[in-house]
Amino acid sequence: MPNNPNSAPHSALDTASIIRRKRDGHALTTEELAHIARGAGDGSIDDAQLSAFLMATFLRGMEPEEVQALTQAMRTSGVQLDLRNPADGGRARPTVDKHSSGGVGDKTSFLVAPIAAAAGLRVPKLSGRALGHTGGTVDKLESIPGYRTALTPAEMRRVIDECGCCITGQSDDIVPADRKLYALRDHIGAVESPYLIASSIMSKKLAAGLDALVLDVKTGSGAFLPDPAVSRFMARLMVETGEAAGTRTVAVLTDMSQPLGHFIGNSLAVLEALALLRGERHPHNEDLREISLVLAGWMLFLGNISPTPQEGRTRAGILLTSGAALRHFEQMVTLHGGDLSALAHTPLHRHELRASRAGYLFSMDTAAIGWAVQRLGGGRARPGDPVSAHAGIEMHAKLGAQLRAGDPLCTLFTDDANRFAASERMLADAIVIADAPPRATPLVHEVLTRDTLAQTTI
Ligand code: URA
Repeated sequence: MPNNPNSAPHSALDTASIIRRKRDGHALTTEELAHIARGAGDGSIDDAQLSAFLMATFLRGMEPEEVQALTQAMRTSGVQLDLRNPADGGRARPTVDKHSSGGVGDKTSFLVAPIAAAAGLRVPKLSGRALGHTGGTVDKLESIPGYRTALTPAEMRRVIDECGCCITGQSDDIVPADRKLYALRDHIGAVESPYLIASSIMSKKLAAGLDALVLDVKTGSGAFLPDPAVSRFMARLMVETGEAAGTRTVAVLTDMSQPLGHFIGNSLAVLEALALLRGERHPHNEDLREISLVLAGWMLFLGNISPTPQEGRTRAGILLTSGAALRHFEQMVTLHGGDLSALAHTPLHRHELRASRAGYLFSMDTAAIGWAVQRLGGGRARPGDPVSAHAGIEMHAKLGAQLRAGDPLCTLFTDDANRFAASERMLADAIVIADAPPRATPLVHEVLTRDTLAQTTI
């Protein structure tokens, strides 16, 4: 059997040779990666070989150029959108999106999309469903009665033309290669790879035809990649990949060492965002508000609305407090067929978890808190499982809070009381109370741009 793993196979590409070369730690060529992406997209490579490729890549890693080549090949495995406004050739109102890499209690999309739209940008947002410990924007929006999350590209365009932003699910024909590869990664335990996450996210974002992209890369106990060095490395791969494809890309590394905001769940997330859009602030969601304004500020900067990201943040704050963002959100929901007046949080059961001792709220295993929400019915164990609109958790204290024994820590909500016990056990282990407060962590750890990356090494 010919087997020279040091050189790329010549004639017709042989999948087993490509897998062997990755297995042995070699960098793959653009053609080899295109062969894999094509095979994943059209079904011409079987699951066994794709899984072997994924595990070899998980273990051996990739060069940045390989991530870029795989991303481009995956991007073109399906339909590509162009949602710019033909009337101005896309110049006057750039298309700009924000993408958050998982997280617990994250509802930044419901704030930044209408803020950016109110500033004059076009925001075509393709979102996913809950899987594992993280929630899904599409599931949250479906808690609004009537809200349609399966818009065609023509419908997306109409919604964006009218109100500037559209948040919908991703149709089957966008990046089919990722659909296949992501499902296999989940099946074989190969999700947590910076190379594979970067190519998966970026292929879908680039297929949406964006002028600019702001990445909200989570770091800390609730992130897909909790180690700050690894999340930073992934952020770098994504910025380089986006820029190489001609899309202005910035990554904001944000803290996920505790749930973002006050509530975790589906209708709970939409209601919390709506309260902020209506100007109703609460000390427990100032983190959500601040991160959303920073992300929106970068969107306004990359979209040529603001001369600096700082000025963008200030402007975003004005659009939030003036009610302009709320009007865009309400219009978007109506254009999607949703009825906000019918949105309600009506769980059948609730249960309070209290502090077992006095002290300071020292740390949270935020991923475990996400899993506790999933056990309450708010997330899913397998793709296709149903989710409850009402299951979720209200967090009563943030990191550093001083507690007395018996103070409320969280309220659990579910439609099935049998689900309390497992979630309560998980939460009791996940939330640590100690004699001293923890060291404060910043909400925004770092911002990576093409300019800052040019000056640093990892
Ligand atoms: N989200 C994605 O879209 N892909 C990943 O690989 C992980 C999170």
